[in-house]
Amino acid sequence: MREIYELTQLDGKSLQERTLKLSEESGELAQAVLTVTKAPGSTYKNHSLADVREEAADAAIVALSILAQTCSSEAEFSAELDRLMGAKCAKWKSVLSQG
Ligand SMILES: [Mg+2]
Repeated sequence: MREIYELTQLDGKSLQERTLKLSEESGELAQAVLTVTKAPGSTYKNHSLADVREEAADAAIVALSILAQTCSSEAEFSAELDRLMGAKCAKWKSVLSQG
């Protein structure tokens, strides 16, 4: 995660620009998934599960960069990431256990 924080510092994008970038990567991920799952109208493109993995990684990196940009130090970024992942996964687990 240190690299994500450092690269975010080096990259001059604004929070709005990063968020738009996340939408772009999300669209690329959707396109790859639609193709791989042979969704109607999406079968002409040529994507594989490797493309899905790559686009998921792109989206994850941009999302982490957004989180990093809201933090004032790498330590805060790391702590917030740990705290939020723990809380959000616990919430997800709780939802699943209610199903
Ligand atoms: Mg991409």
